[in-house]
Amino acid sequence: MAFLSVLSYEHNVVSGLSTKSAENKKIGDKAIIFIFSDGLKSQFTNAKPILDKYGFKGTFDVVCNYVGKKNGYMDWNEIKALHDDGHDIGSHSMSHVRLTELSKASIEYEVGKSKKCLDDHGIDPKSFEYPFSTGSDDKAIVDIVAKHYDFATRGNDPLMFLRCDGMKQYGQKDCKTFTDNGTPTYTNKYSIRNLSHDFEIVENSYSDSQALQRFIDVVNSQLKYNKKGTINAIPIIMYHDVGGEKNSVTDIDLFQNEMKYLHDHKFNVITISDLAYNEKDNYLYVKDLIPEKELAVENVTTPAIEPTVNVTTNVTTPAIPTGGNPILEALKQLFGLK
Ligand SMILES: [Zn+2]
Repeated sequence: MAFLSVLSYEHNVVSGLSTKSAENKKIGDKAIIFIFSDGLKSQFTNAKPILDKYGFKGTFDVVCNYVGKKNGYMDWNEIKALHDDGHDIGSHSMSHVRLTELSKASIEYEVGKSKKCLDDHGIDPKSFEYPFSTGSDDKAIVDIVAKHYDFATRGNDPLMFLRCDGMKQYGQKDCKTFTDNGTPTYTNKYSIRNLSHDFEIVENSYSDSQALQRFIDVVNSQLKYNKKGTINAIPIIMYHDVGGEKNSVTDIDLFQNEMKYLHDHKFNVITISDLAYNEKDNYLYVKDLIPEKELAVENVTTPAIEPTVNVTTNVTTPAIPTGGNPILEALKQLFGLK
């Protein structure tokens, strides 16, 4: 229940803003990224038409050996259609196994060969998604990922801080990949944090209206960090099946309502490939956003009510219990969570 109290706190903070000032924020103040994981067919048949309706693009992370071979997964024509439509295609390995349990040669196969596999189909993936969100804390794995990709993503945080400084408990001041003693940092360009929204729905037994409210709270939680057109924090929301026959935890209606909310509230939907990295000062940023100086002439209202406690420390990953619950464990496997 601690988790829910954090949520309601977040909600109160967001509600504390004048609705008007939130509504009037420039496009640069509200952004979101979607990751569609695993290459599931329902993402093409059910999610894509809704994305198309609003002109939204997502990052679709595919498992090369599943494409066109496994029931319930997209084929190459569908992946190519997404790519041709301007969606971002990322790699989610060759066979969806835990990299931490593999030899170096097998890691190279899962990470490097899956890039080659996409290249062979005319797609140049910029990002890699760790299967089961494991491996981003292992230097040998990160080194291999870094050889092939600009970015890598994993669960499981509601907001990604582009300067990697928002998770105060980890003490990071920038996005350097490694600490001084050579171990990978908690978050960096090869450990970009996303939120498995559908897993949360299952974990908390949310109704569709509760799930929508949680979604709204998460996407608006960035508002207090993003000022004058500069995105400092961005929610990266992960979906699996959308209205699929099996394992469906995001109903089509819920997905439709979430996209409509973003459209109506003028969120700027971008993809992982829209991110860039400043090598000199070690931070991520969003390419092609309206620069801050151009926005300065606009009256960008700062929140009337400043949080009175350190909200950053409250933006923690909801604790995911380990062990004990076989259904939860099975779902974690399904959603690729640790
Ligand atoms: Zn996965």
